Amino acid sequence: MTNPMTGAVTEPTTDPTTEPTTDPTTGPAWRLPLRPELAGQVPYGAPQLDVAVRLNTNENPYPPSAAVVADIAAAVSAAAAGLNRYPDRECAELRAALAGFLHGESGVRLGPEQLWPANGSNEVMQQLLQAFGGPGRTALSFAPTYSMYPEYARNTHTEWVTGRRAADFSLDLDSAISLIDRLQPSVVLLASPNNPTGTALPQSQLRAVLDAAPGVVIVDEAYAEFRRAGVPSALSLLADYPQLIVTRTMSKAFALAGARLGYLAASAEVVDAVRIVRLPYHLSAVSQATALAALANSAELLARVRQLRAERDATVSWLRSLGLRAADSDANFVLFGAFADRHAVWQGLLDRGVLIRETGPDRWLRVSIGSTEEMRAFRAALQDLTVHDLAQQDLTEEDSA
Ligand code: PMP
Repeated sequence: MTNPMTGAVTEPTTDPTTEPTTDPTTGPAWRLPLRPELAGQVPYGAPQLDVAVRLNTNENPYPPSAAVVADIAAAVSAAAAGLNRYPDRECAELRAALAGFLHGESGVRLGPEQLWPANGSNEVMQQLLQAFGGPGRTALSFAPTYSMYPEYARNTHTEWVTGRRAADFSLDLDSAISLIDRLQPSVVLLASPNNPTGTALPQSQLRAVLDAAPGVVIVDEAYAEFRRAGVPSALSLLADYPQLIVTRTMSKAFALAGARLGYLAASAEVVDAVRIVRLPYHLSAVSQATALAALANSAELLARVRQLRAERDATVSWLRSLGLRAADSDANFVLFGAFADRHAVWQGLLDRGVLIRETGPDRWLRVSIGSTEEMRAFRAALQDLTVHDLAQQDLTEEDSA
């Protein structure tokens, strides 16, 4: 079964809300008391297929070096000796280290009381919706955007509304401001760079949204470290706007997706609000030790970012040289199209051992930037596909959306 919105694939299951089960021990039919809005829904997630070249979940293709692995292993080993105790609930050392990293990365100086880590930025954002969303409140975003956002809203009983982005995937500021005026959302959620389009939000637009929004404005900077030269981070506006929240992750640029470490930067008041809803000891001692060891190796872990940026820019140029459209990207992926039958292209690439993502606007596909060899394989597969299988068809189609 495929969820058309998220692309998630799961084995078909019985729907417990429509198919009563009979338990032989109790006799009468019994229905699982699932919340009605969850009936028929499937868990979020891209297909985890065993394919040689996996360019579908925006991971960093380069694993940590042996030296970094050794540092992480030593830190985890030391943490293991104390696992009879609960971890530091306030993650004090980690928050200070994250503040130090952000200062080096963006020049913005923040105190540890302005940082808050959790198990991936997914968990950070769900905590934010728990604190600032809720029944009777609205969260607003602009599609196409990250497909987990509606799930945070659903999970926290927050009304979810999406406006549309402009044809070039940038924010249509006039319509965004009028939606904010009309809906008075408690939360505005903007990804910059946006997934799946790669589009960064100009600071002037962000200021306009912050000036109009009555509640908090979350800027999801999961891919910020990949932004092009001269594109500022929203972090630089934190001093001016107490309602601004910037989320980041170690999953992408830090090549640490498996560690599950995301964080937010905001005013201390925002952090204190999130501390009310977090589960006690939500971030394990192992996670904290791993993140600290990784942060101590930031320079090495981030060394590949420049290379991935160059590979991304080359991929955009190459796709355009084929006559395809490719959206400008400040992230580690590229959205390209527009295909008359995008599924045929996705399948054709998969048949050639290259897995990309069938997501985003109709007729477009998203490819994550892999290693030099993986990108060579992607180019060869796409070229082979266009020359052979799809040569008889009209491959591209003008996109009017
Ligand atoms: N935000 C965006 C825009 C993403 O694309 C992702 C992951 N694909 C996340 C947040 C979540 O990242 P993580 O939970 O690994 O930090």
